[in-house]
Amino acid sequence: MLFKNKSVKALAESYKRIWSIGQALGLMGWDLEVYMPENGANARANAESQLELLIQKYMLEMKKDLRMAKKEKSPNVYEQGFIRSTIRDIDYFTKIPPILIEKFSKATAKGHISWRHAREKSDFSKFKPDLELIVKLAREKAERLGYKKHPYNALLDLYEEEFTVAKADKMFGKMVPRLKKLTEKIYREEKVLRSHPLEKIAYKTEPMRQVNEKILKLFDMPNGRFRMDVSTHPFTMGINVNDVRITTRYEGTDFKRSVFSTIHEMGHAIYELNYDSRLEGTPLSDGASVGVHESQSRFWENIIGRSNAFAGLVTPLLKKELPFTRRYNKNDIYQYFNCVKPSLIRVDADEVTYNFHVYLRYEIEKKLINGDLEVSELPGYWNDMMEKLVGIRPKNDALGVLQDVHWSGGSFGYFPTYVVGNVIAGMTLQKMEKNMGSAALWGKVQKGQFNPIKTWLKDNIQKWGAVYTPNDLQMKVFGNSYNPDPFLSYLERKYLD
Ligand code: MG
Repeated sequence: MLFKNKSVKALAESYKRIWSIGQALGLMGWDLEVYMPENGANARANAESQLELLIQKYMLEMKKDLRMAKKEKSPNVYEQGFIRSTIRDIDYFTKIPPILIEKFSKATAKGHISWRHAREKSDFSKFKPDLELIVKLAREKAERLGYKKHPYNALLDLYEEEFTVAKADKMFGKMVPRLKKLTEKIYREEKVLRSHPLEKIAYKTEPMRQVNEKILKLFDMPNGRFRMDVSTHPFTMGINVNDVRITTRYEGTDFKRSVFSTIHEMGHAIYELNYDSRLEGTPLSDGASVGVHESQSRFWENIIGRSNAFAGLVTPLLKKELPFTRRYNKNDIYQYFNCVKPSLIRVDADEVTYNFHVYLRYEIEKKLINGDLEVSELPGYWNDMMEKLVGIRPKNDALGVLQDVHWSGGSFGYFPTYVVGNVIAGMTLQKMEKNMGSAALWGKVQKGQFNPIKTWLKDNIQKWGAVYTPNDLQMKVFGNSYNPDPFLSYLERKYLD
């Protein structure tokens, strides 16, 4: 039994209701993306918001249990985590009144429609008034939540606990100049391809699905606890620790996009499957943060999936299932997996230039929430910064400021977690190579022996779920936090040596 103290046991007992609603919401959200007929969307959204209100109600009812639990003299690490997480949740629901939640969900529902319309027409003015309201409400949210130094800190903290503008500035401050140098060198030396003929080749869904299923087998994903389906936007949904689902998509050309989307979501799923099962039913059966979660997906997608060793392992499988790959050897496949070029769309960017795309959004959000930048200035600011960082200028707003869904949903503070994910994935690789030996690690990948790698991740990071803050977890595993050096060294080694 993880919880010894009576008051924490009482918290766990109360939390079961919230956990159950969470499972229902998870399943409803999954169904909405995978199976639901389109016209069910309205009623589904109404039902979801009723269940979310129930969560808020039950959470606030835990105040008394929490008061008792906070008095415990010597809580163990699990109890400390449970208490910390409950304080956070209750604090959020206390500070954000239902009326603001309602305003927010109305504004974002409307904003989502106008954003889609604006993107189709590539006309920012169609989205501008709604975005102005969403930014205003996000600023109000930050004010109500409270912050030290910078209002954006309040929003960052929602996705990455204790992460701040100061920490993000430090992280990006180290990364951006070094990545600039790296990309300039990559383009100058011309050893890395900018594009590959395979990007243009069309494929059929069924053989591609076979490829993805076989790749999941290579990684030994557990059949009875895991499944893969199809959706427009791939995602991972952990319903509970023994029911974790991913989705992928089949665009019909450039098959690596489907492969890496599958491996990315599989990385999220491995994390969800590896939480200590004794944490089930508590808020600790969750990732340490959005950034830590993303590090686990990016570790598998980029560091393992785009490696030389993995290209060697997967090439025979590709040749068998996708006849058009037969004229290419494993080095060609490796190069195809790792083209680097300036591009306008974040989700299509390579693992090097991707970080510029996120940095740009971080700078914009920071200034928007602070009032240093107005919504009307967004398209111009975006295009200027894109040109400065990536070296190309969007011809229209659909290829620029209108490309992401996040702002229409009011998710300010989310973007930086993508780079936090890269950074922690780099720290993970460095530590794993140190523990296992670099040659041994890559030898295992080459042979498809992934279980020692999965076990390392489970024992060091994943089994802990949300017991520790993301910062404490990193300190415990790596001895420092949000350190971009290992990730940058990994990229320099990979693309320059
Ligand atoms: Mg992800």
